Amino acid sequence: MSHLYPRVNILGINFTKITNQELLTQLKKDSCLHRNRFIVTANPEIVLFARKNKRYAAILNNADYTIADGIGIIKGAKLLNQPLPERVTGFDTLSALLEFANEKQKRVYFLGAKPEVITKLIAKVTQNYPQLVIAGYHDGYFKDEQIITHEIQQTAPDFVFVALGFPKQEFFINDYRNSSQALWMGVGGSFDVLAGVTKRAPLFWQKHHLEWFYRLLQEPSRFGRMLALPKYLLLILRVKFLHR
Ligand code: UDP
Repeated sequence: MSHLYPRVNILGINFTKITNQELLTQLKKDSCLHRNRFIVTANPEIVLFARKNKRYAAILNNADYTIADGIGIIKGAKLLNQPLPERVTGFDTLSALLEFANEKQKRVYFLGAKPEVITKLIAKVTQNYPQLVIAGYHDGYFKDEQIITHEIQQTAPDFVFVALGFPKQEFFINDYRNSSQALWMGVGGSFDVLAGVTKRAPLFWQKHHLEWFYRLLQEPSRFGRMLALPKYLLLILRVKFLHR
């Protein structure tokens, strides 16, 4: 774990106190030095899941950077009087790293999403980041992890982006991050957005912290998952007022 940045504990998960700018500068440096790094982007739903799964919580707490992806984490930190500087989204970080990989002709492995999504994603990446080297890719519905990790090892990428959704992507990265001296990051549904299959909320919604609501309108089936938000807030308030 890199201890360069202070951490803020939110319901058992230690979040890295870092801005977008600092994270990007740091990751570019890590990449140029060929360091092995694991970046987790966590939101309230992930924090609640980690409370129930100790192994997952330990993985999040041992990652090099556990960043606050979601306004709920920023609000929670503020309520607990341990403010985090700003929201750092997985999607923005991924986009910035793709730019960097393009500039420096770095090698990238893309793992995850449905077969038709990954195919579209690769076409978009080839078009939009022509200097980036696609070390390899695979959809996220594979049976044999060994075949995938062997391929990652053989193709020696500088970046491995894993879009299997949580908690699968973090378990996978934790188990196999040694197969390439790379920056490994779990990116959830980002491949679907990059491929143009799902839309990210327009800026207005993002600015007003309503991205989650936009997402709910697009995918109403996520309603159940979103009940995590009020539950999370209640737990934060309990810690704040009852100190436990
Ligand atoms: N996914 C996958 N393999 C699986 C399960 C999910 O590749 O076994 C992909 C799925 O196609 C989608 C992403 O993982 O692209 C999960 O997206 P979701 O929005 O649910 O992730 P979150 O950002 O909420 O973690």
